[in-house]
Amino acid sequence: MRAPRSLLPLEPDVRARLDGTPLVVMLDVDGTLAPIVARPEEAAVPAATRRSVAVLATRPATHVALVSGRAAGDARRMVAVSNVWVVGNHGAEVVSPTGEESVDPLVAPHEAAVAQARATLGRLLAPVAGVLVEDKRWTLSVHYREVDPQVVPLVQVSVQRVAQELGLRVHEGKMVYEVRAPVRVDKGSAVLALAQRLGGLREGAALLFVGDDRTDEDAFRVLRHRAAHALTVRVAEGAPTDTVAEFTVRDPAAVRELLDVLAHAERAHA
Ligand SMILES: [Mg+2]
Repeated sequence: MRAPRSLLPLEPDVRARLDGTPLVVMLDVDGTLAPIVARPEEAAVPAATRRSVAVLATRPATHVALVSGRAAGDARRMVAVSNVWVVGNHGAEVVSPTGEESVDPLVAPHEAAVAQARATLGRLLAPVAGVLVEDKRWTLSVHYREVDPQVVPLVQVSVQRVAQELGLRVHEGKMVYEVRAPVRVDKGSAVLALAQRLGGLREGAALLFVGDDRTDEDAFRVLRHRAAHALTVRVAEGAPTDTVAEFTVRDPAAVRELLDVLAHAERAHA
């Protein structure tokens, strides 16, 4: 696959692909809308970005979805904009703009195992300085950004072993181990289902997905395979070689710039 090209400034061919109807905009939160910080509970979406998302979400024939590894309620709290869809827990849960919640039926039966993993890992990792076990009900995050690098392998072994004993799987993100149900539910399956529901896969539609992490690659891959018109954008400094996204932008400030353009664009079909 070719290295991704820079999305900004928007070239006319790219601009034209964003001009479809409906326009479905799907956005990861941490590292995409919110700059990465040492402690996930301190991450915040800048007010200017929230405003851009809010304006975009009220435009005609436009749908905005937040697609996060966080619990849906947590992602919604961080962005705090109405009129948006929220896909949480890496695709395990979806909340509509009116607050209707649904949990993937493949994930739901593993709730007790995830709770058990949280209890066991909470106890096992309690002595490790800097480790943060985040309970997201349908999945579990073990953050190690603040952990002594020499101790990280020990954390990894513990997470792997506990997950395996409970029939769960471990996925790696940026300085985090994600413990999830052993089913094929991820950001890829979730964005495809939601895009279909919102009309984003139809001919003439425009579809955009922006993410910064390894778990976003599932969405890039599925969209490039199933929706040739979709714009897939990886947030990364420089020229990333480990992505299947078609485009790249530098940082969350560049994402906001993109959202601003979309929020204030003249829309031929609006
Ligand atoms: Mg992210």
